[in-house]
Amino acid sequence: MPNYSKAIASKLPNVGTTIFTVMSKLAQEHNAINLSQGFPDFDCAPRLLELTAKYFNAGLNQYPPSAGIMALRERVVEKAAALYGATYDPEHEATIVPGATYGIFTAITAFVRPGDEVVLFEPTYDSYAPAVEVNGGRPVYVRLQFPDYSIDWEAVQRAITPKTRMIVINTPNNPTTSVFSAEDMRAFENILRNTNIIVVADEVYEHLIYDGHQHQSVARFPGLAERSFVVSSFGKTYSVTGWKMGYVLAPRELMAEFRKVHQYNVFVTNGPLQYVLADYMQDPSVYLALASFYQQKRDFFLTGIKGSRFRVLPSRGTFFQNLAYDAVSDEKDTDLAVRLTKEKGLAAIPLSVFYHDGHCDKVLRFCFAKSEQTLAKGAAILRGL
Ligand code: PMP
Ligand code: GLN
Repeated sequence: MPNYSKAIASKLPNVGTTIFTVMSKLAQEHNAINLSQGFPDFDCAPRLLELTAKYFNAGLNQYPPSAGIMALRERVVEKAAALYGATYDPEHEATIVPGATYGIFTAITAFVRPGDEVVLFEPTYDSYAPAVEVNGGRPVYVRLQFPDYSIDWEAVQRAITPKTRMIVINTPNNPTTSVFSAEDMRAFENILRNTNIIVVADEVYEHLIYDGHQHQSVARFPGLAERSFVVSSFGKTYSVTGWKMGYVLAPRELMAEFRKVHQYNVFVTNGPLQYVLADYMQDPSVYLALASFYQQKRDFFLTGIKGSRFRVLPSRGTFFQNLAYDAVSDEKDTDLAVRLTKEKGLAAIPLSVFYHDGHCDKVLRFCFAKSEQTLAKGAAILRGL
């Protein structure tokens, strides 16, 4: 009989179940208001569903091109040009992918070798470190500075060694909700000058940015764009997280390596949905209206929790609101998140799970991509604590 523990010898011994699965399941079991996992509790635009009916009935149900249909690649490249002044060739520099997570994983897999170091900012979105580690790379963490989660660029400089292969950034940032300023991007650009470091820029929340802040895509900065993968997701932009559709932009030489992995990993991304999105993307007003749509939701939630003992941390982007609970409880955030769900009927995400050492600043993350009814119920529970 084989020795399974030896045979298995996990490549990811420290990885458990993602917090998003854990908390959504717990919320369901306890019939709690689920402000934990980030997804809208309202449906996508009716027009998108009409287009779905149209294109799924148009005889387009076989393999599309591996890099994606040209019409959709053209739309995403046009958007990057219009919003960020960037030039990408849709033939060689844009690839349609099954979700941003996949895009990030594939970029990491295409470049990170055993022993390479990858700089991650902490708290870190939970898919990055396992993607580095399964490829034999080593995450090197730079901690964002609580409570505004600003970046100490000197610490970034110190984290870089001859082994640094890649840096993953995420702006607007999940879970901190902070955004990189133009000065941050210039500091980043300066640090990388004269290095061969590749950047993966997770920009899935590019349209969810508030209070007049502007999204600083790496695509705006030539010294960053030349070494970067820009990763975005239609799931966030069009309220279809279950579709798992996204795209990646990168200079030709980088994208060629990406596509070598992509063609043997998934080969193609859902075809009919690409036609749907190419059609729908012709109207930029949809994504341009997102910031004010979500800012209203954020403000509705904040009005709802007025008078509560939770301390509001600024939410500059994403569809999350962080609340510090030091005046409410001494518990660890993971314990409080479970207790809130079970006893009070409200699920949130504890931030400590996004630190490799479990560091806890007593902060919970609440998703406001919800109907006003859901937000009002959640806010009432928070006011009562
Ligand atoms: N990156 C970040 C920061 C996210 O928050 C998410 C999902 N919420 C993703 C990537 C994944 O996007 P997708 O569902 O398109 O894989
Ligand atoms: N990114 C979403 C969040 O932060 C969840 C996506 C997932 O469940 N992996 O809540």
